[in-house]
Amino acid sequence: MKVKNNTASKPVRRERLRFYIETYGCQMNEYDSELVRSILLENRFDETAAPDQADVILLNTCSVRESAHNRVFGRLQSLDKLRAKSGKVAVGVLGCMAQSLKMELLENSIYVDLIAGPDSYRCLPEMIRESLYGSEKVSAIDLSEFETYDDIYPARLEGVNAWIAVMRGCDNFCTFCIVPYARGRERSRSVESVADETRRLVEEAYTQVTLLGQNVNSYSHEGRFFADLMNTVSKVEGLKRIRFTSPHPKDFPDDLIDCVAMNSKVCKHIHLPLQAGSDRILKMMNRDYTADGYVRLVERIRDCIPDLVLTTDIILGFPSETREEYEETVNIVEEVGFDSAFIFNYSERKGTVAARRWEDDVPPEEKKYRIIRLNEIQKGINIERNRKHIGRVLEILVEGPSKRDPNEWFGRTDGNKMAVFPRTDQKAGDYVRIEITGATANTLKGKSV
Ligand code: SF4
Repeated sequence: MKVKNNTASKPVRRERLRFYIETYGCQMNEYDSELVRSILLENRFDETAAPDQADVILLNTCSVRESAHNRVFGRLQSLDKLRAKSGKVAVGVLGCMAQSLKMELLENSIYVDLIAGPDSYRCLPEMIRESLYGSEKVSAIDLSEFETYDDIYPARLEGVNAWIAVMRGCDNFCTFCIVPYARGRERSRSVESVADETRRLVEEAYTQVTLLGQNVNSYSHEGRFFADLMNTVSKVEGLKRIRFTSPHPKDFPDDLIDCVAMNSKVCKHIHLPLQAGSDRILKMMNRDYTADGYVRLVERIRDCIPDLVLTTDIILGFPSETREEYEETVNIVEEVGFDSAFIFNYSERKGTVAARRWEDDVPPEEKKYRIIRLNEIQKGINIERNRKHIGRVLEILVEGPSKRDPNEWFGRTDGNKMAVFPRTDQKAGDYVRIEITGATANTLKGKSV
């Protein structure tokens, strides 16, 4: 689709163009920005860290939460001022918002020159040139049943962890979630391509990878499933840690539990979204498990992995959720004892089943009460569970200097808990053994042993 472009003047054609990219939302978007970076660098673009030096500014967007969505619209307004000043920069919206708000962005907004959905990144070099030198807005928003960017090696930023998307899209259609509409149907990469990418990462000195998918444990490629994928990847020599996110409780067979339990490279951390503790709300959410089923699954996992670190996501104030149903969520939180939880208030996302079917009818004051109280309860559980580590010696992957105190390093345990300890001669990427001497809700404190 093409709509008249509002950019006043057009830049002179140049051989090499500069791009600037900002990423919003989840790790999948971080990974996609690395793919985009790679595609553009391969096609005679250079990256700049300064938006006012760029020929094209790309926002890789998220529409899962209202806050990320609002931030992007705010950013587009501020970029419009930059564009009015320079008169020659193109602004592009990528990712979930591009897909889910295409008409709004194309027709109503004056801020956007190009939009590209998550399956259209291969077209970006051409689209950018067209939007810069042409007179129309350009868009590519078709979703693919096959695109996995399998052959593109992402241009990663520095860090000790490498994200690897092993599957894309989602077939679950949770009623609150825009992902199946914004990112299309599930499709997985081959086991071999993920193992090859891991080998190359290890050659570049990465020792930790995180396997990513919107519903990562539904990974399936030519009769091979997620446990098989992790066991194969773990055979890459030199790799020390494998993480994965996010799994769905309905896709957790015994062989996957065994893989996490028995494979020494697979970290003993599972992020297992609960979302709600009421069966009626879970059904409305189309989550396909009951509260009791979730608790039984956690018991099965903990029987096999006693040291497991368990984290979760919870949505409060889903349409029609009563105070009693909220209390059912609180009860599960207390019963299960998560190491930490991301707790959100429900916000209506345009295009979802929930937005079409139900009014967002839990009053803001009630939502506020619920989230403050549950966060307080969870904070107490965080502290209690972190304190259990005091006196233990844990291996930490060092990530860098602590933001709060430059005399301290920070890193993560196998269970993904953040730990800080006095700085010595370690560097990012080292593994060190730390004796845990203290704990707060979010951080372990320790000393080298
Ligand atoms: S599993 Fe549900 S919440 Fe997760 S991406 Fe798929 S539809 Fe969204």
